[in-house]
Amino acid sequence: MNLVLMGLPGAGKGTQAEKIVEKYHIPHISTGDMFRAAIKDGTELGLKAKSFIDKGELVPDEVTIGIVRERLSKPDCQKGFLLDGFPRTVAQAEALENMLSELERPIDYVINVDVDKDILLERLTGRRICTECGATYHLIFNPPSKEGVCDRCGGELYQRADDNEETVQNRLEVNLKQTQPLLSFYEDKGYLRNINGQQDIDKVFADIEELLGGLNK
Ligand code: AMP
Repeated sequence: MNLVLMGLPGAGKGTQAEKIVEKYHIPHISTGDMFRAAIKDGTELGLKAKSFIDKGELVPDEVTIGIVRERLSKPDCQKGFLLDGFPRTVAQAEALENMLSELERPIDYVINVDVDKDILLERLTGRRICTECGATYHLIFNPPSKEGVCDRCGGELYQRADDNEETVQNRLEVNLKQTQPLLSFYEDKGYLRNINGQQDIDKVFADIEELLGGLNK
C-alpha cells in the first residue's frame, strides 16, 4: 500500500493520516514532522529547515528529497508507506517517481483531501497540537474535553509557530500555487483520487477506507 496524502494546510491531512496508519499499519512519513523533530533536536537539518519554516516558505527541494529518500530506504517501508506533506513540488514528485521506480514500488493512490480555501484559514488558526504525542485538535471543530490539555495523553496543547494568521496566509498562497501543477501531474499518471474533506472526520475516513478496500487484499 504505497500512498501519498495531499491537501492544502488545514484540509485534515494529519487527522486522516493518523487513522490510515492505525488501521493499515504502514509507516507515516510526514516531512513537516521530520523537520519539526530535527528543529527540536537542534540537528544540522533542523537549523537549515527552521529559517524557511518560520517564514512559511518551502524548505529547498534538495534538502527535502534527501530526507525522504533516506526514510523510504528503511526496512519498515517495504510493506508500504503513507507520505504526508511530500511531494509539494513537481520536482519533488519527479524525484519520488525515480526513487520508487528504482525500488520497484509504484504509488497506488494519491489521495487529495479537498477543502475550499475560505474554510482553511478558519480551520488553521484554531489548530492546537499536543506537545507530548502530536495529536491535533481544533478550538471549534474538534476541541479537547479540557481546554489546553490532550485527551489522549494529558500533554499540554500548543499553537504551531507557523499557524499564526500572517504565516497561514502566506502558507496557503505558497501551497495553492504549488499544488495545482502537482495535482495535474498525478491526474495525468492516473493516481489521483479526490476525497471530499468538508465532511465529518469519520465520513472522510470512511470514503478513504472505501477507496483502499480494493488494495487491502
Ligand atoms: P507541514 O507540517 O506539512 O505543514 O509542514 C510544515 C513546514 O515544513 C512547511 O510549511 C514547509 O516549510 C516545510 N515542509 C514540509 N514538507 C515539505 C516539503 N515536501 N517540501 C518543502 N518544505 C516542506
